Amino acid sequence: MPGKHKPQRSCVVCRVKTDKRKLTRLVIADGKLQMDETGKMNGRGAYLCASRDCWNHKSAQSLLARALRHELSDCDRDCLRQMTPS
Ligand SMILES: [Zn+2]
Repeated sequence: MPGKHKPQRSCVVCRVKTDKRKLTRLVIADGKLQMDETGKMNGRGAYLCASRDCWNHKSAQSLLARALRHELSDCDRDCLRQMTPS
C-alpha cells in the first residue's frame, strides 16, 4: 500500500528496529565522525537509538567503528560524548 512503508533501521548497539527518524544517524564525512541531522549526508552511516544506555554501552564505540568501517580517533570519541543524549 502506498505511503504505508516507513524506512526502518536498527540501532548498532541494541539492534532494535525502528522508524529511521527516531534514530540518530552517524556518518563518516571528511574523515571524521559527524551527526547527520538531515539524514541526507553521503557516506556510510550507522544508527544509534535515543537510549543513553546504547550511547554509553561499553561496546558502542567498537560496534560503531565496525559498522562505519572507520577506526574512531580521540576526536571522534569526544564528538560521540558530546552527542550522547542526556
Ligand atoms: Zn539502541
